[in-house]
Amino acid sequence: MPQAARPSPRVVDPLRSGDRVLVIGGGPAGLTAAYLLVQAGARVTVLEGTQMLGGISQTAQYKGYRFDIGGHRFFTKVEPVERLWHEILGDEFISVPRMSRIHYRGKYFDYPLKAWNALSGLGLWQSAMVVASYARAKIWPNPVEENFEQWVSNRFGKRLFNIFFKTYTEKVWGIPCTEIRAEWAAQRIQNLSLAKAILNAASIQRRSTAIKSLINEFQYPRLGPGQMWEMCAERIAKLGGEVLLEHKVSRIETRGSRAVAVRCNTPQGEKRFEAEHVISTMPVRSLVRALEPAPQQSVRDAAEGLKYRDFLVVALILKQENLFPDNWIYIHTPGVKVGRIQNFNNWSKAMVPEAGRTCLGLEYFCFEGDGLWTSSDAELVALATKELGLLGLADPKLVVDGTVVRMPKAYPIYDSVYRQHLDTVRAHIDGISNLHPVGRNGMHKYNNQDHSMLTAMMSVWNMQGASHDVWEVNTDYEYHEEQRLEAKASAAQPVA
Ligand SMILES: Cc1cc2nc3c(=O)[nH]c(=O)nc-3n(C[C@H](O)[C@H](O)[C@H](O)COP(=O)(O)OP(=O)(O)OC[C@H]3O[C@@H](n4cnc5c(N)ncnc54)[C@H](O)[C@@H]3O)c2cc1C
Repeated sequence: MPQAARPSPRVVDPLRSGDRVLVIGGGPAGLTAAYLLVQAGARVTVLEGTQMLGGISQTAQYKGYRFDIGGHRFFTKVEPVERLWHEILGDEFISVPRMSRIHYRGKYFDYPLKAWNALSGLGLWQSAMVVASYARAKIWPNPVEENFEQWVSNRFGKRLFNIFFKTYTEKVWGIPCTEIRAEWAAQRIQNLSLAKAILNAASIQRRSTAIKSLINEFQYPRLGPGQMWEMCAERIAKLGGEVLLEHKVSRIETRGSRAVAVRCNTPQGEKRFEAEHVISTMPVRSLVRALEPAPQQSVRDAAEGLKYRDFLVVALILKQENLFPDNWIYIHTPGVKVGRIQNFNNWSKAMVPEAGRTCLGLEYFCFEGDGLWTSSDAELVALATKELGLLGLADPKLVVDGTVVRMPKAYPIYDSVYRQHLDTVRAHIDGISNLHPVGRNGMHKYNNQDHSMLTAMMSVWNMQGASHDVWEVNTDYEYHEEQRLEAKASAAQPVA
């Protein structure tokens, strides 16, 4: 099949000595860009809309307890990202053994799925049906692989899809699996099939690193991911950069093909900042809404067509330790709303200040404004406590306290039209030569921290003379491509 022609990387304004750069958003991508830019001698201001650094990768705090917005593992194959993490955090990085299982109708199954474990847990009859359905998928695969259901069923069989993928995935996205693009599955469950899982379980397949999800240990900041981003902001400030909290960008003024200034809402009223370059990690939809003058109707319509899934975490404090050994448990059991449960004691002991206590994070996927989102904190704490009991994970009487953190736009949605919309918006933004959308929501890409950071790094390198196609970065990014970055990065000269 001939390859479709890729758009050539855009031409961007070069970074000159003393240029002022505005970075919208103090999450991993924004702070990474700001850090590289201050190191290169630019005058940098980070405008963060909330009171917290780290974005989705922040660490929330409640009465001395620290917890993530969903547990954040640090794992990457991108060498410059790995180096930066260690440069910032030094010996505050700890190594955490991974254990995660699926809770399904009172039974536990290893996650990532291991064939023997899954089959033995399901019992003889179910297992026979699973194997038959797998064989059918291999002999007569669905010739069309457009949606999540088709992609997974072709690799695991329809029956296993129904047991282990459908319920949880639909809980996460709030839409049927037939409406989720296959691309998302390909990014998240790359190279994993029942056959590979069997080989892996039998240790026949040596290169288990080829199976992305099977990582037995991960790095983690001692005080949670927020520690990384708090320390990064400190370094930026030491190098002369500014990191301003509660500066929510409402307008990006453009003149011709350039962004010239940014306006934001602050507790002291509206403020205006002029700049030679703007790096944006704000959601693509909000970015287009902020552009002044407004782009043509087709671009605005495309941006409004981009959708998000929101998320909230209920942190519960229990007066007992060692409740279960997992870092987190996926809840596939029907009848409860909770999607995943984190046990922060098993991420880092330093996150839990009192002995004899456990801090759990019960994760709920929702849409801003729906019943879960608008429930009061007290109602959500009560719901989480009840569901913990229903699942048999802990006696509700052990819960002594709880709190809630809501995270809007936690997930950019890959529905059947997002790609088309994104291409339209991208074509418009590419025409603004000093505006760089980077990061997860900044590019509407389901990226982890490392790839969010990589898009920021590449944009800075492009400003310094490199020519990376930032939109090409995703979780499928090939290892050798990542290695090549090193050479390209060192070819790009920092400004004097
Ligand atoms: C449940 C969950 C679990 C995850 N687990 C992992 C994991 O294990 N490992 C991993 O590496 N990644 C994980 N991720 C992904 C990770 O959180 C993101 O990749 C990363 O935080 C993206 O960084 P970012 O800077 O692009 O965006 P964000 O983290 O979204 O940061 C953007 C920042 O911009 C600010 N902002 C937005 N609009 C404005 C505005 N108008 N003005 C000013 N500021 C604005 C926001 O307040 C925010 O601080 C997880 C994500 C979720 C939802």
